[in-house]
Amino acid sequence: MSDNIATIADNLARVNERVANATTAAGRDPASVRLVGVTKYVGPVEAAALLSVGCPLLGESRPQQLWDKAAEASLAEARWHMIGHLQRNKVRRTLPIVDLIHSVDSLRLANSIDSIAEELGLRKQILLEVNCSGDLEKHGLTADGLKELLPQLAELSHIEVTGLMTMAAREGGASAAAENFAALRQLRDSVASECPPNVNLTELSMGMSHDFETAILEGATIVRVGSLLFDGVCR
Ligand SMILES: *Cc1c(COP(=O)(O)O)cnc(C)c1O
Repeated sequence: MSDNIATIADNLARVNERVANATTAAGRDPASVRLVGVTKYVGPVEAAALLSVGCPLLGESRPQQLWDKAAEASLAEARWHMIGHLQRNKVRRTLPIVDLIHSVDSLRLANSIDSIAEELGLRKQILLEVNCSGDLEKHGLTADGLKELLPQLAELSHIEVTGLMTMAAREGGASAAAENFAALRQLRDSVASECPPNVNLTELSMGMSHDFETAILEGATIVRVGSLLFDGVCR
């Protein structure tokens, strides 16, 4: 396990350095990009190791795994991000745990989060997930779907929309990813004037292990990195 901690610390240092270099190369403020360490491939021990070496924001894509890890004493200091698909029947248990939900892609889900947040006395930050790649197996709103949804969020006073999230196309490599990320930024810019007061699309959550530098060049403010951080870790 001590070997694993050293490996994870090393991996984190390398990712942080690459994030900093990409941010500088893009001419952006180093503080303008946050790293979410995605712990879905590992158990609580390795996740706690990542937290302990200096990665406070952790992401999970499945509610059950999020709930399980969030209940661990060793992970009490983590700030959790829900990055995967969220079903409405999982909202109640998820809301108290998370700082940010990246993956809201329907009015039904937004309504459900809003009403349960109200019941629980919370105001929740969310991102709207957009499918910029056209991959059919991916979740997310279309550009038109986003434009239609924005005004409908105005009455939801227990959510605060802070940005957009996307995943790059599976096929097409770095150039396709760059196009998808640029499309998300342009979409954000084009709808900014149509946003109700509880919607402020500052955050762009985009970029994973194989494409986070591309995403930063295209304006990412949150990158979600998993595999690279746990590279070489024995379980
Ligand atoms: C798994 C996952 C990631 C991290 O992917 P890596 O390629 O392992 O860095 C990021 N975002 C989402 C939504 C994921 O499900």
